[in-house]
Amino acid sequence: MAAVIPRRTKIVATIGPACADAASLRALVDAGIDAARLNLSHGSHADHAARAELVRAVQEEVGRPLALIGDLQGPKIRVGDLGQPLQLRPGEDITIVCADEAPNGELPIAPAAIGEVLRPGHDVLIDDGLVRLKVEEVEGDRARCAIVVGGPVSAHKGVNLPGVPIPIPSLTRKDLADLEFALQVGVDYVALSFVRSAADVRDLKALLEQAGSPAHVIAKIEKAEAVDALESVLYESDAVMVARGDLGVEIGPAMVPLLQKRIILRALERGKPVITATQMLESMVHHPEPTRAEASDVANAILDGTSAVMLSGETAVGEYPVQAVATMDRIARAVEPSLNYRHQIPEATEDPTIGNAMSNAACDIAEALGARAMIVPTFTGKTASAVARLRPRRPILGLSHHQWAVQQMALEWGLTPRWFPETENVEDLWRHATDTARESGIVDAGDTVVITAGTAVNIPGSTNVIKVDVV
Ligand code: PGA
Ligand code: MN
Repeated sequence: MAAVIPRRTKIVATIGPACADAASLRALVDAGIDAARLNLSHGSHADHAARAELVRAVQEEVGRPLALIGDLQGPKIRVGDLGQPLQLRPGEDITIVCADEAPNGELPIAPAAIGEVLRPGHDVLIDDGLVRLKVEEVEGDRARCAIVVGGPVSAHKGVNLPGVPIPIPSLTRKDLADLEFALQVGVDYVALSFVRSAADVRDLKALLEQAGSPAHVIAKIEKAEAVDALESVLYESDAVMVARGDLGVEIGPAMVPLLQKRIILRALERGKPVITATQMLESMVHHPEPTRAEASDVANAILDGTSAVMLSGETAVGEYPVQAVATMDRIARAVEPSLNYRHQIPEATEDPTIGNAMSNAACDIAEALGARAMIVPTFTGKTASAVARLRPRRPILGLSHHQWAVQQMALEWGLTPRWFPETENVEDLWRHATDTARESGIVDAGDTVVITAGTAVNIPGSTNVIKVDVV
């Protein structure tokens, strides 16, 4: 049997009403998703708990680990309660009330704290910037605004105030409740929306540590402040997301493409997984085929070096969720042979670690020998991650005896994660590693593999080993 070549780029699907029953979710997994995202901005805990349970059940059924992501809403500003949608006409005025509700004909915007920071001249963007207001006069918690671009405004639509420092903590009361819930259902990653500084990430990491959770943090880069603080945010985060939806509202769509490239490059240099998100196959919410521009967008994100591409509405509420995943899969497979091995980058880091030097050497050996695959037994996934960031042309099998590490590796570019038993000695480790490789289907008997061992075996010095083996 010829060994299968796994797709290197990972696919994240947002789980929503359109794919939340057992058969639909199974179809998404069969189409190739690697990670399931629960968007905690929408839906009840009961809905999300059922979805999380289904994800784990399907993972068990198909025998392929999936990363589960809990995405926290963060300090998002919204339109408050509105009985009737408001029709805003350009050239007219509208009064914003900083509260959950407002008298008829006025526009409530919550939370109330934003009343402290609104000033004349500020832009108020509603519903992904489709409606635009300019603040003209502020009195207490009320602001009179000129309607620059009109349109309908309905309850709970998102509001962006670009460049305005928002006096809301990065984790709201809702986020704290959602976080507790997410940890209960066993998410592998917690995504934090509207990150403004490294401190926001540190606060979340402190809570995870307190809770004794091994979950990793994904910082969503969707505000100018996060772009300005990119280096320190990346340093504190386990992964980042190019959250193009809100980023495009905050800084304008024209700035997004180059920033996407910059964020991906910086993440690659730091060896952190990066997800490119939002509107990748937007037209597939209603159509079974992508536009050519969308196909190019997915391909270009992969050429930029993204670890994963994400589907939002396409899978959560779309009419063609399975086709959207299959489309991403086909584009990725078409593009990936053009990706380059990038082992030169870590040599340039100011702070080379033994792990980096070892993974670099292991990739070079695998390349020189034309090895079929690389095998990385690892305790936490770190060593596998260090190998993955070099983008070797060989499939990488990431092995851990920690189920959480296995699930986290599902999001990493190029990694095929598998659970394998904890080993007592290094001979066992080699044997289990090659056995698991053969069972995974990515190598055939007789293939050459390069194994570089992480800390999966409790023997001093075993982190420093590269072994060439024939399975
Ligand atoms: P969201 O984040 O879908 O949670 O808003 C992604 C984005 O803004 O692009
Ligand atoms: Mn967002």
